Amino acid sequence: MRVPMIAGNWKMNTTVEEARRLVTEMRPALDRIESVEKVVCPPFVSLTAVASVIKGSTVGLGAQNVYCEEKGAYTGEISPLMLAGLCQYVIIGHSERRQYFNEDGALINKKVKAALKAGLKPILCVGEQLRENVAGKTAEVVTGQLEAALVDIKDADRLVVAYEPVWAIGTGRAATGAQSNETIGLIRSTIARRYGRSVADGVRILYGGSVTADNIAEFASQPEIDGGLVGGASLKADQFVSIVRKTAEVKGLRV
Ligand code: PEP
Repeated sequence: MRVPMIAGNWKMNTTVEEARRLVTEMRPALDRIESVEKVVCPPFVSLTAVASVIKGSTVGLGAQNVYCEEKGAYTGEISPLMLAGLCQYVIIGHSERRQYFNEDGALINKKVKAALKAGLKPILCVGEQLRENVAGKTAEVVTGQLEAALVDIKDADRLVVAYEPVWAIGTGRAATGAQSNETIGLIRSTIARRYGRSVADGVRILYGGSVTADNIAEFASQPEIDGGLVGGASLKADQFVSIVRKTAEVKGLRV
């Protein structure tokens, strides 16, 4: 059985002090819910501070981005070697990176490769825009993004995938559980075609897009959905803890 996962993407929010306070507030309650894997992804500059607060707890740490080269003249970029040892996960291919920073499938593929090589576990985001959804192109777009990200990648078992319909991110307009379950099933079949059924059955695939404590049950109750990538609601300690607790409850696990 796949261990459910809830990851919080704090995006470009929180100063170092605010990040320290937020994770300090969450830590005790999160630590007690062992049946769900919890990951917080603060901004780069807060990784060290957050790491020291969660040290010795069951809460994991992720970065929100990584560059595809190990070192060199890439002003302002962060290498996977800098993240390895500091955190376990890294979000790659988030729609905000695709949209505002022109990240395409080829770059995302290089980033996934570089992250895996450094021993990091990518949380690979895929998802269609509203116009693509309306045009009935969700399956085509999502499988296309996935295939592009996975070119020449052998160890897919270390991936987590997040299906995030772009129109649902930060809009308060989440997808439905059934709709997301269907697309996530398709993502799993794509992984199965490339890597075999047992790899596909082990990969966690999360839903992301306006997840809250009030709607997480709709997603976590779906058989293909292994948890959530949470943006806005991960910035409120009580909401995030409640999302994790409800995931455990809905999956029938110990809270
Ligand atoms: C996200 O940032 O990945 C996200 C899903 O944001 P929100 O939960 O705020 O929609």
